[in-house]
Amino acid sequence: MKQWEVVIGIETHAQLSTRSKIFSGSSTAFGAEPNVQASAVDIALPGVLPVLNKQAVECAIRFGLAVGATVAPKSVFARKNYFYPDLPKGYQISQFELPVVVGGQLTIQLGDLEKTVNLTRAHLEEDAGKSLHEDFQGKSGIDLNRAGTPLLEIVTEPDMRSSAEAVAYAKALHALVRWIGICDGNMQEGSFRCDANVSVRPVGQKEFGTRREIKNLNSFRFMQQAIDYEVQWQIATIEDGGRIEQATVLFDPDSGETRAMRSKEDAHDYRYFPDPDLLPLIIDSEWIERARAAMPELPVAKRDRFMADFALSVYDASALTGSLEVADFFEATLAVCGQTNAKICANWVTVDLAARLNKESREIGESPVSAAMLGGLIARIADSTISNNIAKKVFEALWNGEEKSADDVIEKQGLKQITDTGAIEKLIDDVLAANAGMVAEFKAGKEKAFNALVGQAMKATKGKANPQQVNDLLRAKLGA
Ligand code: ADP
Ligand code: MG
Repeated sequence: MKQWEVVIGIETHAQLSTRSKIFSGSSTAFGAEPNVQASAVDIALPGVLPVLNKQAVECAIRFGLAVGATVAPKSVFARKNYFYPDLPKGYQISQFELPVVVGGQLTIQLGDLEKTVNLTRAHLEEDAGKSLHEDFQGKSGIDLNRAGTPLLEIVTEPDMRSSAEAVAYAKALHALVRWIGICDGNMQEGSFRCDANVSVRPVGQKEFGTRREIKNLNSFRFMQQAIDYEVQWQIATIEDGGRIEQATVLFDPDSGETRAMRSKEDAHDYRYFPDPDLLPLIIDSEWIERARAAMPELPVAKRDRFMADFALSVYDASALTGSLEVADFFEATLAVCGQTNAKICANWVTVDLAARLNKESREIGESPVSAAMLGGLIARIADSTISNNIAKKVFEALWNGEEKSADDVIEKQGLKQITDTGAIEKLIDDVLAANAGMVAEFKAGKEKAFNALVGQAMKATKGKANPQQVNDLLRAKLGA
């Protein structure tokens, strides 16, 4: 049997976070009544003229800088002509021959492996309206609120070799556009949607196979499922003696299958030409430098700094820089509990807090435990006022709003760790006296019995005894 190699290139539409549309003053807010956010420009009344939104250009520049691309000093808007009911002008304003962003790279992480995905280009364009099929028997409704919403279309080289790489790329890109504040990344609302171009070729063959393009994937899970289905379908088709026809396909989440929607158009089908209503977009070096000065520290730079400054592993540092919100929360927490506690702090943010947020499907910005509260809690673990186990109780109390700070919880609920040696010794004597059976078992060589005795001692203090001290003193008393 032949071995097959998978080849994937991805086109992503990221909706830019501007308040108004790319060529008109209408609002881009999501969820309004149909057609209340569609101006004369958006519905293409005769005689109207587009005016470019500077903020959309700013977003494109930020993206170009973030991926190390060339921001084109001159780019051109073009008309992409096609007919569809949700496209009132009969053409979409996009960029074709001269896009605003050229080249660039994104690094993706797959377990321990790093891989660089090359970007071809990113261009500005307007979104179309929406066709509504529900609620209209035998008819379609058209909502033009989305018409003219600014998009950045980001295109990769065919560099990915598996669905896992494709998903890792999509996730990294999703994190980056949110990080630099150009897209809210809301996939349910369609703010970030990907098309995956997929082909297969026999291992060792130089030329690419014929691709099919899976349109509008709006979740990472669907992307994975769609590509996996598509790959096995293409291989099966070829092995059965068939040929792959270039096509645009849709993924049906209910059946888990991809289905051809139409045969693929080529660029000439769209009769692209420069839009005579818009001047070329000129971006001078001052504008680029101003944008550069306003850029936040980027994820990879922050990750490397966390590793260098706080001696964190690449694993911890990557988890902490998954989003700007998490990275900021970590740094704010660290400012309270002190840099020497970076590792405990990393664990609390990426494990305990993350799990608790996840349980209630909350974002870190909605955490009832603030960075200041968590920092205060970690400080009390670090100075041995409480053990890790008690800390979990304190965290829960803060989460439920019982008190305003870890110190208040510890004080009011009497959770301070018992570290007084005399008191612990007394306690252990009691435990040994009450559990002669376990002591005998331990002396007969059963190590498990020792853990049981530790458990008894901890239980007697409701977990407040210092576990290390209990361990040490118990061993000493048992002569072990
Ligand atoms: P179009 O403009 O017609 O959509 P492009 O040539 O610009 O086509 O490519 C679109 C996307 O398809 C890019 O991400 C590119 O990397 C990818 N691609 C091109 N050829 C292949 C192929 N044979 N297999 C997989 N992906 C491909
Ligand atoms: Mg395409």
